[in-house]
Amino acid sequence: MDEFEIIADFFAPLATASGAFGLKDDAAAIAARPGFDLIVTADQIAEDTDFFAHDPAGTIAQKALRVNLSDLAAKGAAPEFYLLVVALPAGVTAEWLTAFAAGLAADQKRYGVSLLGGDTARTQGPLSITVTAFGFVTQGGMIGRSGARPGEGVYVTGTIGDSAGGLAIFKREKHSLGEEPRNYLTDRFRLPDPPVDFGKSLRGTVSASVDVSDGLLADLGHIAKASGVRVEIDAEKIPRSAALRALWGDGIDAIRRVATAGDDYQIAFTADP
Ligand code: ADP
Ligand code: MG
Repeated sequence: MDEFEIIADFFAPLATASGAFGLKDDAAAIAARPGFDLIVTADQIAEDTDFFAHDPAGTIAQKALRVNLSDLAAKGAAPEFYLLVVALPAGVTAEWLTAFAAGLAADQKRYGVSLLGGDTARTQGPLSITVTAFGFVTQGGMIGRSGARPGEGVYVTGTIGDSAGGLAIFKREKHSLGEEPRNYLTDRFRLPDPPVDFGKSLRGTVSASVDVSDGLLADLGHIAKASGVRVEIDAEKIPRSAALRALWGDGIDAIRRVATAGDDYQIAFTADP
């Protein structure tokens, strides 16, 4: 398959917006929307860092998209479009691409987004996928990192550290978990579940927010720095799943690991309690 066949067979069916021109033009058009700001973000995922070659192609595709939707959600933006840049190693087959595109199709439905364009290249190196996602907020309404004020509460949308636990299991860290909690954690590594609808509801309610991708402490540190405040959190109150507590326990070293691991793709925010 050459590049043009790949685009036409696997990616063009995902380009449902009129401004994508069926991926038959050099570029796409996003209509300017008076009264709104276009919010833009990009993230790359790469083999052996963010996913493994044995992962299903569909969840690899979905992870590439979702890590971007997480950023938009944290900014209070409603996602609409994305660009897809893929660097494909020689071993990639039509079967793999079919599953990859099916994963994207499912997430397009789930999140109400569509493909606008991208680039398709071959690589001698590892598989990598870069998505650029676009969303809208009402003008001036993007939730930044700098609005936190003394006296506010600090919140997070879900459990923290599950993805790191899953990665540790993939990396053969010793454990005694049964199949169910083990699969729960490895699934959380494979496929983040960013709170996209909740993100839209944050507009006008919260003072600052950030997506938790670098680790809860680092990301709350970003809010603290940008806002000029000190953030204090009670380590034991960091939400942790039963599976993760079974894996690592409740000691302070475990909690520190949870809070510094990253790849959570939840939203941390500050607000009036
Ligand atoms: P160029 O010649 O400028 O590199 P291409 O021929 O690569 O352009 O791309 C042709 C069209 O296909 C463009 O609209 C581009 O956005 C789209 N496209 C290429 N690769 C992808 C991809 N991986 N996903 C979505 N659209 C793609
Ligand atoms: Mg071109």
